[in-house]
Amino acid sequence: MTAEVIVDIARSEVDRIFEYTAIDGVRAGCRVRVPFGGRTVDGYVMRLKEGSDCPADRLKPVLSVVDEALTPECLSLVHSISARYHCPQALTLRLFLPAEMRRGAVRARTRNVVYPVEGASVPARAKAQAAAYAYLLERGGAPLAELSEKFGRTAASGLIARGAAKVEKERVGRSPYAAVGAQPGGALSGGAHELTPAQRAAVAAAEGSAKTVQLLHGVTGSGKTEVYLTLIARALAAGRTAVFLVPEISLTPQMLRQLRERFGTKAAILHSGLSAGEKFDEWWRLRTGEARIAVGARSAVFAPLENIGIIVLDEEHDGSYRSETAPRYETAAVARMRAEYNGCKLVLGSATPSVESYRRAQEGEYNLIELPERINRRPLPEVTIADMRREVRRGNDSPFSAALRGELEDCLARGNQAILFLNRRGYAQSVICRECGYVAKCEQCDVSLTYHSEENCLKCHYCGAAYKMLTACPECGGTRLSYAGSGTQKVAGALQKLYPQARILRMDADTTAGKEGHLRILRRFAAHEADILVGTQMVAKGHDFPSVTLVGILDADMSLHFSDYRSNERTFQLITQVAGRSGRAEEAGKVVLQTYDPGNYILRFAVNYDYAGFYRHEIALRQATAFPPFAVIVRVMATGEEEAKVAETLKAVYLALKKIYDADPGKFLFFNKMKSPVKRIQNKFRYQVLMRITDRSLLPAIYEGALACRTRDVLVYVEEDPASLS
Ligand code: ADP
Ligand code: ZN
Repeated sequence: MTAEVIVDIARSEVDRIFEYTAIDGVRAGCRVRVPFGGRTVDGYVMRLKEGSDCPADRLKPVLSVVDEALTPECLSLVHSISARYHCPQALTLRLFLPAEMRRGAVRARTRNVVYPVEGASVPARAKAQAAAYAYLLERGGAPLAELSEKFGRTAASGLIARGAAKVEKERVGRSPYAAVGAQPGGALSGGAHELTPAQRAAVAAAEGSAKTVQLLHGVTGSGKTEVYLTLIARALAAGRTAVFLVPEISLTPQMLRQLRERFGTKAAILHSGLSAGEKFDEWWRLRTGEARIAVGARSAVFAPLENIGIIVLDEEHDGSYRSETAPRYETAAVARMRAEYNGCKLVLGSATPSVESYRRAQEGEYNLIELPERINRRPLPEVTIADMRREVRRGNDSPFSAALRGELEDCLARGNQAILFLNRRGYAQSVICRECGYVAKCEQCDVSLTYHSEENCLKCHYCGAAYKMLTACPECGGTRLSYAGSGTQKVAGALQKLYPQARILRMDADTTAGKEGHLRILRRFAAHEADILVGTQMVAKGHDFPSVTLVGILDADMSLHFSDYRSNERTFQLITQVAGRSGRAEEAGKVVLQTYDPGNYILRFAVNYDYAGFYRHEIALRQATAFPPFAVIVRVMATGEEEAKVAETLKAVYLALKKIYDADPGKFLFFNKMKSPVKRIQNKFRYQVLMRITDRSLLPAIYEGALACRTRDVLVYVEEDPASLS
């Protein structure tokens, strides 16, 4: 037999099948060691076949079999994923294996277990051996270490030497749950709520639909989690398996505990806090079928499960579902391929679906399921808008409006908890006049400009135009221009001064570093060890803290003015999500939203929880301005350490793409080459060609033309609708 092998070298030149003579034990899906160009490398057996196109004397044999890591489904998906994202199959295959496993860095932890051989005779005079044999018979087996400790090492080895017992190596799982503090069968064992009629209808709609993709649009607190868990439990009961995807940050202590209590060790939870060994063990539990639910962030979509009965993707609008390294896949797209392969449903859930997904539902491609009310008809929190321009004019230079201070005092006096949210993304910021609310925008593109401190100028990320930094507001002449806002540290400091008695926790990139950093903070806040939580994006998502009755959004418009066509959408999502943290239990919640632009319609939609209104407005705008989903923004980036070489490669890319452009200029809304707005990252120069096209069918040619220009020193990659253009 001949084995068709893909070698684990992620270069396009070797991205094809190599043939080897199969040895015993080689099957499709095996990881093997093979000779390759004078070295020995890992490879994956894609297929076995009779005979070969190569002359027999040139065919080398497989050296050894490592394991059978890949499922038949993986073998079939690799090709389609590589084709879709234009990347070598070896690179795609790596997604299906834990990185730690590929490098051989971790091995299964094993222990020796001793089993009695039935009917063996152990003479009574060998007292210790006889006792050990009886012990084994009674229990059916015991770890060698335990046996040696109880009866002595010589008794244990004597028993084995005599043939009365045999030793087997068994895999031991490392337990990744100690840190979570949740054990199967805890206090809420079983943990399931009786479903409300609305939840029951949602489950039935998802299961009964003829469409593969279900979009579950449910307001915050509508009980989506319970719908997911029910769907998963039902898939398990039908003898199938399940994948549950969440943004990393949503793997909160509550969520983990709920899963453990409900599904015990049947769930394998893959999160970034796990050690390499733990990840490896969880992965094998899934591969062997011992665990039947894979829970995790983006990469868990590649979990090695077979016979999947349901895939759930929670908070589907979340940016973390898009991979920023090759292959630049979208989790929902891969999940959909898996759902189609397995003949099961993919449920996308959110309180604020992405405009793209909601449009697909509107057009009938997805089945739309709505949960428009909170559980027990609890009201959504009431939102007050605080006009920060007035505060500034009144001489209030603090980050807190009078309205927010009033609510905070009330909240603290009742012994409740509050969350203060700051809008911070990346380092680049827009410039805003704190007296009139003016925002600096690009004259051609009508998106806000981004301040670049290293060059002290303002740049448009969509056309590359640079503008001089402003010293005064061109509208009102005011000089209180803000382009950095205040950080969480500054806010927490100011807050502590205002309320010396309050216990304040801070959650941002600084305080959450390290393994389980964010879990630690969330756990403390959930245990009411603090009264106020100050944080960035991280506090917005998915948490369910019953004592929180106040949410303050300190700078609601900061993300509105992000230099990105998704600014409106992100702002609407963020406000809705953060507001949704308030008043989830008995007491009604409140939200104070601070803004320099109180008339802004996006804020108005958010304040009224009007998703449909927001969507109608936004989709019309995208259509009028020809932004996605009505066009595709394509960026081809060339990066490398030597600027001259990068520039040269980019020129080649440009010439290759110019041919495509010249053949059909009408399909390009924008086409230009430029230095990237952030010229250097980590010592690599970045040059780009930016395009906005109206026809997706141009994409394969664009990929092909661009990727052919890669050189040894310059990396070239293509991004579709990139999350950021900096
Ligand atoms: P969402 O994910 O839609 O924001 P959750 O699933 O977190 O909402 O549910 C909100 C709250 O309602 C949680 O505290 C949850 O325990 C509770 N809940 C969910 N379903 C039910 C139910 N059927 N009966 C009672 N309480 C429920
Ligand atoms: Zn511009």
